[in-house]
Amino acid sequence: MDIISLLVPEDKYALKCPHPMKPSFIVVHNTANDASAHNEISYMRTNQASTSFHYAVDDNYVVQGIPEDRNAWHAGDGPDGEGNRKGIAVEICYSLSGGERFHKAERLAAKFIAHKLSQYGWGLNQVRKHQDFSKKYCPHRTLDLGWERFLNMIREEMVERADAPEPWAEEAWNWAQSVGLMDGTRPKDPVTRQEIALIAQRMERRLRNANDT
Ligand SMILES: [Zn+2]
Repeated sequence: MDIISLLVPEDKYALKCPHPMKPSFIVVHNTANDASAHNEISYMRTNQASTSFHYAVDDNYVVQGIPEDRNAWHAGDGPDGEGNRKGIAVEICYSLSGGERFHKAERLAAKFIAHKLSQYGWGLNQVRKHQDFSKKYCPHRTLDLGWERFLNMIREEMVERADAPEPWAEEAWNWAQSVGLMDGTRPKDPVTRQEIALIAQRMERRLRNANDT
């Protein structure tokens, strides 16, 4: 998954992300703004406020501003709060006006969060909302539209990931299907001995046909 890196300069660490962090979950936010992900991160990394967040996601891009091994100030639960000290903050853009681009941003955020859950070996219960850590009604528009609905979007993306080959295997997987060695289903299932025999036979016949022509 493509992520644009626009990290805060190290001389801003003391202000924006002073503590090393071992992340334990995702914290979902809405920006309550109509700026793009690039503009949200650019503004965050250059202003003089301590407020910070790891990622901003809009309808097209995921942009990173803080490394995942450092904390950010986003959850409103104080200097030692769990949200601020253990959460990877994900801001979903365009929540002020909503509409189509917000829906697309939510969809891309769900895809990105599914990717993070898979990377860390986490489940859906590692997806929290800002509201869980402070009284702030955030992610406001995502909550208005339904939190369970958003979790379901992440669930759908997790299923989609499970049904797709990993990026490193994608080309070979598509090739094996296109030449008829494999049927193109269940890319992550284990292989049985009889399936290996079948694949070997198909391969042998394929080579023989190639030699005949
Ligand atoms: Zn928030």
